[in-house]
Amino acid sequence: MENMKNKVIIITGAAMGLGFAAAKELASLGANIVLVDYNDKSLNDARAELGKEFPDVKIITIVADVSKEEAVKNYVDETVKAFGRIDGLYNNAGIEGKQASITEYDVNIFKKVIDINLMGVYYGMRYVIPVMQKQKFGRIVNVASVGGIRGVLNQMPYVASKHAVSGMTKNAALEYGRDGILTNAIAPGAILTPMVAEAFKEVNPADPKAAETEYAQRNPTRRLGQPHEVAKLVAFLLSEDNGYVSGQTIAIDGGESNMY
Ligand code: NAD
Repeated sequence: MENMKNKVIIITGAAMGLGFAAAKELASLGANIVLVDYNDKSLNDARAELGKEFPDVKIITIVADVSKEEAVKNYVDETVKAFGRIDGLYNNAGIEGKQASITEYDVNIFKKVIDINLMGVYYGMRYVIPVMQKQKFGRIVNVASVGGIRGVLNQMPYVASKHAVSGMTKNAALEYGRDGILTNAIAPGAILTPMVAEAFKEVNPADPKAAETEYAQRNPTRRLGQPHEVAKLVAFLLSEDNGYVSGQTIAIDGGESNMY
């Protein structure tokens, strides 16, 4: 994918997991990368690793909590200051919250999940889109989940937030397609990242590996997904090779969301 050379891509939640894997993939394709995360230590580690592997790529880091509107406005302003444009936004930062039934769910954690997963994605689009409109070009990938397509036991706020991401994606595609901005969402199944490893610890604290193996057996492929597999899809959706896919929520889950 030659046409990612010199593109400017913002990645939120870039310090680890799916965000970091996408940063590696995009850096390998020659894009300039803006790494955004609220964990400044992991962010610096991520930058150091990328810098070593891709010494010719321009990488900047910005510490921001995506649930804070001012912090989002700031990462957009800083990116424009550094590069003069924004070609792509990978709106990826998100949390799972805790696992609990609807009636037992801690309301404060519910609100936190919504603030990060829903409002964080909204703020990202709100401040990046005007920059893309001026350029008459942009690509946005919002991270939903299979929990944005169907229900997931004991994760109501996560499911609510991810259905909202899918809905916001449709609206952004409708409202800004005329400006050359294509917006899509991805819906990963279980991809082995630190977030998912934590979830297996919660399901079976004594033996998280057993929980992982059991979960993998439900998937048609009998395995979990890998972050670099998701990164390939994200790179395509953020590139000019994607000329006409917009407003979609694309599952990347080994086919699991088709099972009854
Ligand atoms: P992860 O926990 O491994 O990494 C998430 C990164 O986002 C971390 O670096 C964290 O510091 C950062 N982050 C979290 N909240 C933030 C905030 N408010 N502001 C800035 N940075 C923040 O998680 P992951 O598995 O890589 O998940 C990334 C995204 O993919 C999330 O939106 C998640 O819901 C979604 N997702 C993941 C899976 C999966 O199987 N891993 C499946 C479906 C959806």
